[in-house]
Amino acid sequence: MSERIDGRKNDELRPIKIKLGVVKSADGSCYLEWGRNTVIATVHGPRPIFPKHLADSERSVIDYKYRMAPFSVTERKSPVPAKRDKEISLVSGNALESVILIEKFPNTVIDIDAMILSADAGTRVAALTAATLACADAGLPMRGLVSAVSAGRANGDHILDLTKEEEDAEDAVDTAIAVLMPQKEIVLLQMDGHVEKDEWKKIISMGIAGSEKIYELQKKALLEKYPIDGDINEWNFKNCKFWKCNFKNERRKKTRW
Ligand code: UDP
Repeated sequence: MSERIDGRKNDELRPIKIKLGVVKSADGSCYLEWGRNTVIATVHGPRPIFPKHLADSERSVIDYKYRMAPFSVTERKSPVPAKRDKEISLVSGNALESVILIEKFPNTVIDIDAMILSADAGTRVAALTAATLACADAGLPMRGLVSAVSAGRANGDHILDLTKEEEDAEDAVDTAIAVLMPQKEIVLLQMDGHVEKDEWKKIISMGIAGSEKIYELQKKALLEKYPIDGDINEWNFKNCKFWKCNFKNERRKKTRW
């Protein structure tokens, strides 16, 4: 086993800091530092959707936008969304759609924006982890939390939470995995690289174990802002009790749908 470039153990996450409610103009928001990745995620809505032909009478439409700021990487990025941004937005939006109780808000849209301020690989999973917390901060009813992480291979080892340097290794395999917690349902899975079946199993179980660690950090951040009696347990999520009691935003309460 070779030492990782930043000295971490193979199954160790980079340091993570989370703060909720950082953007006052949004219904919900989250700031996340994850190693050298920095993300701000915001939620606006549910609000009536325009033009009206985009409305769905049975559910809310999730409009998830993942974007990298031009200054987020060393070589300045064009502010125009690339194909990559659109693809990440689509699959991450689908993941959130399966978790938010969208059927409660027919004929509306929920705008979820995840802006990467600095990037060092794993930005799509960092964005999704932050976006889920922004949804919780907005008081949206959800089946649970989406806890996302990357796992893969670099320099011959199977590792959790790859940095850009590790992603650039010759033998690199990079898997983005997002898990609905506490149910442990995979809601997003993407992979770059080639692996054998046994290796794949190892990478996936490493990813699921990593997601569980992310889930613990997410719960801690939520409880810091919204202290409730006891722990946020399975029961709270399934019955949406926690979210309902924090359905706090006066502006959205006035929204008619
Ligand atoms: N990256 C970059 N320019 C781009 C896209 C990506 O420099 O236009 C870097 C950035 O550090 C990003 C990393 O490459 O985090 C890995 O990108 P990838 O597409 O694998 O997505 P991620 O791992 O960030 O989800």
